[in-house]
Amino acid sequence: MIDTNKSWLPSRIGLRLLLGSVGAGAGWWLGHNMGYPTRMALLGAALAAVGVSVLDTLKGHELLDWLRNPEPDPPQLPGIWGEVTHRVHRVIRQREQDIARERDRLAQFLSGIDASPNGVMMIDGSEHITWISSVAASHFGLDPVRDLAQRVTNLVRMPTFVQYLAAGEYGEPVKVPMRNGQGTLSITVRAYGEGLRLVLSQDVTERERAEAMRRDFVANVSHEIRTPLTVLTGFIETLASLPLTEVERKRVLTLMAQQSDRMQTLVSDLLMLAQIEGSPRPSADKWCQVSALLQRIENDGRGLSQGRHELVSIESPVNKPAEIAGVESEWLSAMGNLVSNAIRYTPEGGRIEVCWRLMPDGSGEFSVKDSGIGIDAEHIPRLTERFYRVDGSRSRDTGGTGLGLSIVKHVVQRHDGILRITSEKGKGSVFTLVVPAARVRLKQA
Ligand code: ADP
Repeated sequence: MIDTNKSWLPSRIGLRLLLGSVGAGAGWWLGHNMGYPTRMALLGAALAAVGVSVLDTLKGHELLDWLRNPEPDPPQLPGIWGEVTHRVHRVIRQREQDIARERDRLAQFLSGIDASPNGVMMIDGSEHITWISSVAASHFGLDPVRDLAQRVTNLVRMPTFVQYLAAGEYGEPVKVPMRNGQGTLSITVRAYGEGLRLVLSQDVTERERAEAMRRDFVANVSHEIRTPLTVLTGFIETLASLPLTEVERKRVLTLMAQQSDRMQTLVSDLLMLAQIEGSPRPSADKWCQVSALLQRIENDGRGLSQGRHELVSIESPVNKPAEIAGVESEWLSAMGNLVSNAIRYTPEGGRIEVCWRLMPDGSGEFSVKDSGIGIDAEHIPRLTERFYRVDGSRSRDTGGTGLGLSIVKHVVQRHDGILRITSEKGKGSVFTLVVPAARVRLKQA
């Protein structure tokens, strides 16, 4: 153990004086016999000084050797060299600890940035990559390790990005297509430090899609409302300006009533959609009786069909009446929409089968099968989009809003269920609501 409080100076000077004196004394003694006591005393003192100096040099060399190739254990040197070694070793250890701590902090900091859902890339003044997060690497198709220190514009050759980077005007982000061609990347650059730049990338595909959907939705709603409104305005002008007979007046009023009904249905469907989207998920402990739902749907269906179709309702097995959990009005609306569609898209004389089945896995299936016009396979994936219609005029003529199936899809999703559609053009369709087992139970006594 090195005593670092000890002052080496007096003892070191004392020891050297003592060695010098011993050398001088020995020289004098030898010189006395030879007849040159003074010269030999000086020679003895000089030899002692050289000896001490050589010893010091050897110890210094040993220390220097260790400093050149520092190993964990420093050399064990006596005296002042021991203390020098100990102090140097302590400083080195302290530095190493500081560096390790800073490195840990930097690694933590970078892994924090790396966890960001947005991409971050740091480039230097000559556009060489100094660091890149894994998200940015995937956005730009780079390798976070291999591509370090590479010039970014040699690797990312999108002209829009290259020009944006070169222009130095970073006020607004720039949008470029994603590498796979499916989506959009928004890139922003921020300058910092001396000539350094931060390239931030964000996948805005979903945001752009939602924005496009919102724009389409507003345009569709405006169009759907404007059409009956224009018709109504025309009729009002006709009523106000032309002297009509009683028969003509009644005809115009009937047509006006049809248009206002159309607007009313549209508004109530829109309200239904808004309400479903804005309300919390339906609880799984509010139960409604399937047979009561079926009864109401069948009655509404018969009212709509007015005897033009053969309407069959099957609850199987009837001796095991079931209940389903959720919001009764939503289930009613979803099932009602399917039956109303079946009636509207099935020519007179067609057959419509409304069926409830308990499945072996505990789930329940509510299906509506019709022998109607059917749907081409290419349209099926898009049927639940708002305002998507296979045949716009048939939909409107039969009082459709183009929102029915999107309401159905929303209701089913909110109740953790699935909407299955199978159809064959010219033969008919089957729309099935699958209610998950957790929301189905046998009727409680
Ligand atoms: P709409 O009010 O137009 O009926 P929906 O969202 O309910 O709107 O349905 C979307 C489209 O799906 C309809 O316009 C129609 O083309 C098609 N469709 C829905 N149900 C049926 C069905 N049972 N038979 C044939 N086509 C259907």
